[in-house]
Amino acid sequence: VTDDDQTGSEETGVDPDPRALTAHDQAHVARALEELARLIALSGEAPFKARAFERGAQLVSAMGDELGRLIADQELSSIDGIGPSLIKQIAELWETGSSGLLLRLRKEYPLGAGELSRIKGMTVRRIRTLSEQLGVQSVEELRDACAKGRVASLHGFGAKTEARLLTQIDALEARQTGEKRILLYEAEELFARIREHLASCQAVQAVALSGAARRAEETLRELELLIVSDDEQGVFDQLKDLGAVIYVDRKRRVAYLTSGIPLCLHIEPAARAPLAWLRTTGSEAHVRELEARAKKLGIALGEAHAEASSLSEAESGFYRQLGLSAVPVELRQGTNELNLAEHDDFADLIAAPDIQGFVHCHTTYSDGRHSVEEMARAAHALGMQYITITDHSPTAHYARGVDVDRLRRQWDEIREVETRVPIRILRGTESDILEDGSLDYPDAVLDQLEVVIASIHARFRMDKAAMTERLVRAMQLPVFKIWGHALGRLLLTRDPIECDVDRVFDALKGSSGAIEISGDRHRLDLPPALIPRARERGIPFVISVDAHSTEGLNSLALGVKMARRGGVRRSEVLNALTPDAFAEAVRPTRSLRV
Ligand SMILES: [Zn+2]
Ligand SMILES: [Zn+2]
Repeated sequence: VTDDDQTGSEETGVDPDPRALTAHDQAHVARALEELARLIALSGEAPFKARAFERGAQLVSAMGDELGRLIADQELSSIDGIGPSLIKQIAELWETGSSGLLLRLRKEYPLGAGELSRIKGMTVRRIRTLSEQLGVQSVEELRDACAKGRVASLHGFGAKTEARLLTQIDALEARQTGEKRILLYEAEELFARIREHLASCQAVQAVALSGAARRAEETLRELELLIVSDDEQGVFDQLKDLGAVIYVDRKRRVAYLTSGIPLCLHIEPAARAPLAWLRTTGSEAHVRELEARAKKLGIALGEAHAEASSLSEAESGFYRQLGLSAVPVELRQGTNELNLAEHDDFADLIAAPDIQGFVHCHTTYSDGRHSVEEMARAAHALGMQYITITDHSPTAHYARGVDVDRLRRQWDEIREVETRVPIRILRGTESDILEDGSLDYPDAVLDQLEVVIASIHARFRMDKAAMTERLVRAMQLPVFKIWGHALGRLLLTRDPIECDVDRVFDALKGSSGAIEISGDRHRLDLPPALIPRARERGIPFVISVDAHSTEGLNSLALGVKMARRGGVRRSEVLNALTPDAFAEAVRPTRSLRV
């Protein structure tokens, strides 16, 4: 029964739908459930009903090829979160390609209502108006109508709404294109939850992060875990009960997560675990090169390190066996790291304990949530010896940029707080780089600051030549400046600005300044892949937190990982210096006084 012409019409007595679904197709079932969820939401029914269908859509996408078998064997009811009415819908959609409920709901709304309702700000009334006045039945047609200015004149819309709809359509399409990925911090949080959940399981001896997340890649399309256990089924049983897990595919050793990415399970007994960890952590190229070296030396990498006291010690043993230093996980990229490991022990690769001060902190003076004193106390509690207060400059209206008068008041407050908190507080700014490449305070003010971060917060979309010129001019300014969140990217949501990075690096090299490696979990900017090009030029770095609250100070860990991925050494990081040395190194007028 795979034909389109029998799409439920006999049973339900409604007209065949022009967008008939295909039977026995898991992807079609998932899409239909999604549409059901949206139509139910439009109908104003209790939100939990729509959510049940949404979850159904997630489940079905996660099941992949297994759906048919689960339906045939009547196993759907054994999966958490699937009630009888959802099972009935899934089975009907699978068998016939459509369902009575879907057809009935579609009849109640204009064609395309389900699709259009995915756009933020869309209501039933608007959908009806668009359909009746303009014949709009899809997101594509709506985009076209907005672009032609036909939507603004409709009753209840207007030019502003039209512009907003266009933005929302862009955002929707950005979410849809490409495979699902999650951010590194989300992967780490997910891992922490899974590890905690597995900790109570008798069958599990140890759980460790592996794969790209262990290498600290900025975004991930899967999460890989090493689980030390002799009881695979016991691990599966335990995982099944975790809320974040939708479905465990025991055959392929994959669990599907509500976050939309697969969890790959490497379940190994203790003796084989270290080698499995080595193999699943390294990039493919890294592992291939390791194995080639082992082969050349006639060494079989195996269970040789059973005497090691920990997984990571056992893992390091494999490198030693090949006459190499253990390569830090962040560097296992398959580039040059194994050649390096012949003579470099990586002992001076920057590490979290090296950092002595938090750079780039906002307070309630601009868009931060905590006061100067609260930030300073939190920094001290985290073992730091200094902190830089760098609120936004006046042009950043949206972030309550600080004018000169308030800045002076902040300096008084800093001086006062310093008498109560045993930590050095540097007076700074995160100054906007204006369109012409100048900074946002007069020189007389910059002269009195102890640290200047220079960042772009507006006009991201200049053409490449103009943007390069803007940045080159900013970098050539005679003050010592830290180039803040260099490329302005927001991971998975905003692309980096377009500029000739090498020219900007050259300008900075010929002037005076440093580059920020931001630990902000949505930025992680400068991108690690570009760090080596700045290192080659001898440009120093700060590893910054860009904290807008005391919790934001925790982003240091991610910043350090990015720096390690770029191969950054302790001597290249200014905030690994003591308070006096740091203050001297970043003094804005340093170059003028020499
Ligand atoms: Zn900023
Ligand atoms: Zn900032």
